[in-house]
Amino acid sequence: MYSNLFNQFFRIQTSLLTLLCCVFAGCVGVSPGQESAVVTRVQMQMGTLVKITAVARNESIAQAAATAGFAEIHRLEELLSTWIPASELSRVNTSAGVRPVAVSQKTMTVVQGAIQAGVMTDGGFNIAIGPAVDAWRVTEDHRIPTESELAVLRPLVDLQAVHADAREQTIFLEKPGMRIDVGGIGKGYAADQAVMAMKKAGASAGVVALSGDIKTFGQLPGGKKFPVGIQHPRKEGEVLVFIDLYDEAISTAGDYERFFVRDGVRYHHILDPRTLQPARRCQSVTVIAREGMVADGLDTGIFVMGVELGMRLVEALPDVEAVIVDHEGVVHVSSGLRDRIRKP
Ligand code: ADP
Ligand code: MG
Repeated sequence: MYSNLFNQFFRIQTSLLTLLCCVFAGCVGVSPGQESAVVTRVQMQMGTLVKITAVARNESIAQAAATAGFAEIHRLEELLSTWIPASELSRVNTSAGVRPVAVSQKTMTVVQGAIQAGVMTDGGFNIAIGPAVDAWRVTEDHRIPTESELAVLRPLVDLQAVHADAREQTIFLEKPGMRIDVGGIGKGYAADQAVMAMKKAGASAGVVALSGDIKTFGQLPGGKKFPVGIQHPRKEGEVLVFIDLYDEAISTAGDYERFFVRDGVRYHHILDPRTLQPARRCQSVTVIAREGMVADGLDTGIFVMGVELGMRLVEALPDVEAVIVDHEGVVHVSSGLRDRIRKP
């Protein structure tokens, strides 16, 4: 994940997105007379800019909570990054077609969550997408793979051939050459886990933002909620709508973060698992859910499904809301969110 595609260009792109998404969440201070401290820190992790804001009784607890959040994300990166040859996911991938690999509970949880996102989005989300992601190398050298090249990979992008055995705590990829890539869900899961670590360290509220994957908990001093802006998919630096979050996660999948244009066609990093071509039905999908892992898995999967099936799914799920910008740029807002959005 955060994969071979990652390069300096991607760093800059995602950094900009992060700043836009959480600049408002970061604008907090200690109100006079209030016995709480707010600390905001930024680090590069998981190939992106991570911003953590911690609210606690005093500054040393807030600092410790932020440190605990970053440390947790670091631990997850060591387990899940396919950049790191010794990571659990790398070992799962190199053992494809050979043997099941014993993994930690955390790796098991994210892979199970990814499989569930695949089922919910009718295969729109597919963690077995790895070989196709590598074939495109969208941000690396703007390569367009041939149809025959993709045809060879298609049988490998097979969710049924990903076996996560909860009892044995092993993961087995049935076919040689298969590779799983949690790039579409891992940052949301990391946000969840970082929040848990921060609470354990004594934070009463906070925000964890990994690029467009943001999780909030508690309330700011003075009872304020956390406002977040959704980026306009075609107007750089412009906010489409603002939403106040309260104990919620938000995640956006868009075709404007990592892309190139060739002969007037936009090629980007979210692939339709059926065609292995960039998904064409949306410009951006933002999902709000209680858990970051749910929001992140669904945004990528719904991006592939498109607005009709995607919105039907969102409306059927409790505590899940969405803003979908379709391929023509029309903005669709789920029913539970209509009263909550603010135009800039
Ligand atoms: P990001 O915030 O990094 O843009 P997204 O949630 O939008 O993440 O997911 C995009 C990443 O997910 C891609 O870079 C790739 O690694 C992976 N991916 C691409 N298409 C799919 C898909 N259909 N299902 C699951 N993962 C995908
Ligand atoms: Mg996602």
